[in-house]
Amino acid sequence: MNQIQFVLSELLSWRAALDIVVIGAGLFFLHRTLVRLGTWKLLIGIAAAFLFFGLASMLRLEGVEWIFQNVSQVAVLALIVVFQPELRKILEKIVSLYARNKPSSDQNLTGIIAESLWLLGQKQQGALVVYPGREPIADKLSGGYLLAAEASVPLVMSIFDPNSPGHDGAMIIESNKLCKFGVRLPISQSQRLDEQYGTRHHAAMGLAEATDALVLLVSEERGSVSAFLNGTMTRLDSAQSIEDEIIRHQTGHDILSIKQLTRMDQRTSLQAAGSLLAATVFWIVLASSNKEVIERSFTLPIDYSAPTNDLVLVGERVEEARLRVTGPRSAVNDFILTGPSLKVDLSTMSEGTQTALIGTDHINSDRVSILGSTPAQVEVTLAKYVTTTLPVSPQLVGSLPANKKLVKVSVVPAQIKVLAPHYTENGKQLSIITTPVYLNSIQSSSRIFCKIIAPPEIQPAKKPWQDVEVILEVETVLHKQQE
Ligand code: ATP
Ligand code: MG
Repeated sequence: MNQIQFVLSELLSWRAALDIVVIGAGLFFLHRTLVRLGTWKLLIGIAAAFLFFGLASMLRLEGVEWIFQNVSQVAVLALIVVFQPELRKILEKIVSLYARNKPSSDQNLTGIIAESLWLLGQKQQGALVVYPGREPIADKLSGGYLLAAEASVPLVMSIFDPNSPGHDGAMIIESNKLCKFGVRLPISQSQRLDEQYGTRHHAAMGLAEATDALVLLVSEERGSVSAFLNGTMTRLDSAQSIEDEIIRHQTGHDILSIKQLTRMDQRTSLQAAGSLLAATVFWIVLASSNKEVIERSFTLPIDYSAPTNDLVLVGERVEEARLRVTGPRSAVNDFILTGPSLKVDLSTMSEGTQTALIGTDHINSDRVSILGSTPAQVEVTLAKYVTTTLPVSPQLVGSLPANKKLVKVSVVPAQIKVLAPHYTENGKQLSIITTPVYLNSIQSSSRIFCKIIAPPEIQPAKKPWQDVEVILEVETVLHKQQE
């Protein structure tokens, strides 16, 4: 209850409102762009994935949550790659909002184009005419011939005459001039158009999906005229409606976006409301999962500090313990990422076996509280360094060949003066050994030079370690018959 009140009170702050509006605007433009490009089905998949993980998080399915948290960063990268064309579109759209205004439409030109297209339709001669919007289209087009001509009905009719060599492809109108003809448009990759339509329709749709251009099409098969704009196809049933469509497109772009926003049609308002709603739900889910107070415990290695100079830590020691912390989920996750460690401070301890408290070098912040560790304390033994002599044990490996017998082994010198902790573990005497002596290849009595191997807490009284000699006395045994 407390948590819900907390989230609600945060929801009413200006920061949350701005957050939601920005996320909502992002969703709105993403949705519109994807719808125009015909890739909106992907969005449904992503929304379903988020819903699924939202549910998992509400049910506290930790495994699924873990996967989501770890996979989501990679998924964002993958989405950027998958949606690269769409993201590019969105950026182009933002830039084009500031782009030059379109030249106001020429009444005369609009009339000529509308009349010509209607006539072509009646004669069942195919045609494509492109009016660019604010966004650049040059990189979407290929081929074609320069024209730069004043429009007239006979010229347009001639260009699209099926007997003329340049009738294939589209005519581009820019700056109130017939600027190019015979231009190839990009073929639509979406599934939006029915298969009954051929390449001309798919080419018109392709450009209308990729840019904000208006593409007018006359069908050779049907004799009909259609307009393609923002990924939609509209049938035009008179010369007047062709003219209206062109004027609407040309003047629509002259109106600044603020005005466009205030004149949002019903569908757009619905989309905007939907985006805001989705953003609000997203924000609440995120806020409540971040505000949810959790308790976590995780295993960390124990860091033993150095004791004072003449003491050394000896015997077995506990290597790790579990640290328990509590706080809002996001703060706890951040805390874990900072790599906290457990500390045992030996600097003020004296000789002997004693218990030491396990601490952390993190001070309780206002967001994360440290509840303690399990175990809370460990037993440590500190010993004093003393000068002593230790016997050197030869390290014999393997056994002599079958007919040989070891009579005597000795080390010279037999003892070495060392600095060692004054401590015995379970009554075990400290000792130092030689590097290994391999018996398998020894045939007769020998003297072998060896180095000393000692545990780190034992140091030579006079550095460095001196070398020692292992003396082996070997006898040959006469082979006795086994029964
Ligand atoms: P229609 O209704 O006119 O028959 P359609 O959609 O069935 O149109 P097709 O019959 O395949 O299309 O029309 C082929 C014509 O479309 C080509 O002759 C050419 O003029 C035009 N066309 C095909 N591809 C492109 C393209 N990429 N860009 C511009 N025009 C194209
Ligand atoms: Mg056809």
